Amino acid sequence: MVTKPSTVVMNDFVAQWAAVSKDALAAVERVGQSGWLVLGREVDAFERALAERCGARHCVGVANGLDALEIALRCLGVGRGDKVVTTPLSAFATTLAVLRVGAVPVFVDVDDSGLMELGGAQRALERHRDVKAILPVHLFGHALDVTALEALGKAHSVPVIEDAAQAILARSNGRPVGAASRAWATSFYPTKNLGAFGDAGALFTDDDAVAQRARSLRDYGQTAKYVHSELGLNSRLDELQAAMMRSALLPRLDAFTKRRAEIARRYVEGLAHRALVVPPTPKGSQSVFHLFPVLVGGGRRAEFMAHLKERGVASGIHYPLLISDQAALTAGTFHVEGELSQAKRFARDEVSLPLHPFLSDDEVARVVDACNEFPS
Ligand SMILES: *Cc1c(COP(=O)(O)O)cnc(C)c1O
Repeated sequence: MVTKPSTVVMNDFVAQWAAVSKDALAAVERVGQSGWLVLGREVDAFERALAERCGARHCVGVANGLDALEIALRCLGVGRGDKVVTTPLSAFATTLAVLRVGAVPVFVDVDDSGLMELGGAQRALERHRDVKAILPVHLFGHALDVTALEALGKAHSVPVIEDAAQAILARSNGRPVGAASRAWATSFYPTKNLGAFGDAGALFTDDDAVAQRARSLRDYGQTAKYVHSELGLNSRLDELQAAMMRSALLPRLDAFTKRRAEIARRYVEGLAHRALVVPPTPKGSQSVFHLFPVLVGGGRRAEFMAHLKERGVASGIHYPLLISDQAALTAGTFHVEGELSQAKRFARDEVSLPLHPFLSDDEVARVVDACNEFPS
């Protein structure tokens, strides 16, 4: 009997569990035995291990990526009425962090890879005198040029805060993401390249004072037990999440990332359909392939996704609506620079193919075949 092959999924947390459960359960046991559940030795050890891995002096673990961005913005002095140059093509959290500190996003267009176009960012910095931060996103696991970002910030005396939620371990011309920032952020949402077993995030800095302020802000703004110098958040990281990530996932991150890159290479080599365009990898980017975007021309995105589904291949859209077009953003609280035509193209045409470390070679081949057999 021939059984129908199972669907090729976007993320496979069951396969991940099978691969890591022994180490994850040992970490759970360790935390349970310790009797300490929030912000303790495990968080500390995870922060140290990850800071070293990312080339940062400090890592501050928090509850999620959104909070990491908000805390980073606050640590660099961004507040009410300040403008922040950012991208409209990202997870909503990038802009939500800006709005939560009371700042005003200035949206600039993206390049043909889907990442903030630095020429547009420069024009926005020239036009708006009151910009207090540049918040670019290393989207899809690609690294923006961190040296160019750093130069842009310096030229305008504006700090850069990189959103590396999709790009942990990515490099630009050998320099790690985060290198352009005094504080930068990532997320450990389960789908990310380093994903927790629930919500978690972190910010990174080389600056001792920023790290100290961030540690206070994540814990109600506490500077000593029951002493509050400012209004912070409850954004503490659990010992369980830290222990499981450090023992079960961090040691495998290199292998997982390598597998992602291998799958991306197979897609690039195998995809051959004239309706599909693979956006280029940015120059100098050593990408970590969080997602694999393709652009479907001719207004045929929905038809293409239905075809993939019919062939047992899941797919996603990142992102169907630009942040500047979201109903949650009310008129007058943000600025848009130019037409955002590239960003609109991604919102209209982008489809993400399955890309996770547990795809078999056979599944990758099935995805390629399904794509190439999309009717012309
Ligand atoms: C996931 C993500 C975030 C938000 O992280 P959460 O942990 O979900 O709050 C921010 N920015 C980008 C680019 C993301 O992909």
